Amino acid sequence: MRIAIVGGGLAGLATCYHLLSIDRNLKIQLFEKQGIGSGASGAAAGLLHPYTGSLAQLNWRSQPGIAATIQLLDAAAESIGKATYKPSGIVRCAINREDQQYFSKIVKTQHDVSLWDPQYTYNQTEIYRPALFIPGGLSVYTNLYLKGIWNLCAHYGAELVLQTFTLNDRAYFDKVILACGSNLADLYPALNLVLKRGEVLICEKRLTYGLIGNGYLSLTDRSNICYMGTTSRTDLTDLTLDGATKLIRSKVDSWFKSDIQVLGYKSGIRVYRSLSSSYPVIDQLDSKTWCFTGLGSRGLMYHAYLGSILAKAILRQSAKLIPQACKITR
Ligand SMILES: Cc1cc2nc3c(=O)[nH]c(=O)nc-3n(C[C@H](O)[C@H](O)[C@H](O)COP(=O)(O)OP(=O)(O)OC[C@H]3O[C@@H](n4cnc5c(N)ncnc54)[C@H](O)[C@@H]3O)c2cc1C
Repeated sequence: MRIAIVGGGLAGLATCYHLLSIDRNLKIQLFEKQGIGSGASGAAAGLLHPYTGSLAQLNWRSQPGIAATIQLLDAAAESIGKATYKPSGIVRCAINREDQQYFSKIVKTQHDVSLWDPQYTYNQTEIYRPALFIPGGLSVYTNLYLKGIWNLCAHYGAELVLQTFTLNDRAYFDKVILACGSNLADLYPALNLVLKRGEVLICEKRLTYGLIGNGYLSLTDRSNICYMGTTSRTDLTDLTLDGATKLIRSKVDSWFKSDIQVLGYKSGIRVYRSLSSSYPVIDQLDSKTWCFTGLGSRGLMYHAYLGSILAKAILRQSAKLIPQACKITR
């Protein structure tokens, strides 16, 4: 069977890996217009934990999602001989009274998190605020991880085609998987996907934990470098380094007061199903074409889990395997 996967980000690579894990005889060509990780995936800050969102509630299918990601992180690490993440834990600082109330509620029902009082948070992070500590939170080294997954795919026989895929190219394949991030909005405008651009600053600062407040800071594979981010805007124009720094620091400086040198920045476009829903989008578009997008700001949580489900659905030609919540019409 000849399969085209369009997009060398988290969605396309995870699907490629899972297809080849099921059947090494598949002939897979992975089309990537700019290089592995050149879209949102390469810009990701690397924070992975199940309590995202303003209410800090346990996210939909976060447990199987994170378990699948950890399996793939470990496989990728083995293939490149380098760690792809750090089990650093994540400290989510309360920015207002509502946060404090949500955190107090969460610890009553969830036993994998704890509350820190302001003094304890300060001792650990130099931030004087009450906080929710998520010990299972990970800092993923996204660029190394992407390299590792592609390494595995190439080892299993996938071929990288560095060119832009057009819908006319579908004629040459038995199956086509459009995992092309924000470009799917151009290819299929009827999906009404919502796009938001975001930036992360690359900063010189040693961190012990991933930190979340009004914005976030995350660890990288270099111990003296971290990422700092907060932006998410429907205006997709690119900012300058100066513009991104001003915007991000205007929010982060309100809760994380520290001298930090900004060295550069990365930028990418997140894709959402709609303004009000954060469920990913996976579906069969016609007899040979499938799509996988809408990972929003939870790409690390869902790509491996849903990539595995999608691989099975494609090979069994059964859209019934796709979770109803992820279908285009739910
Ligand atoms: C600033 C920022 C920070 C983030 N931080 C986090 C985080 O900490 N944790 C987290 O879980 N998520 C985070 N995210 C979200 C995460 O990055 C995304 O959810 C995820 O990367 C989306 O992956 P994807 O494969 O769907 O899309 P992409 O990574 O955008 O991949 C699509 C790929 O398709 C290629 N492509 C497009 N069209 C074509 C075509 N026609 N032919 C060939 N190739 C094509 C593109 O070049 C691109 O490489 C962040 C996002 C941004 C922007």
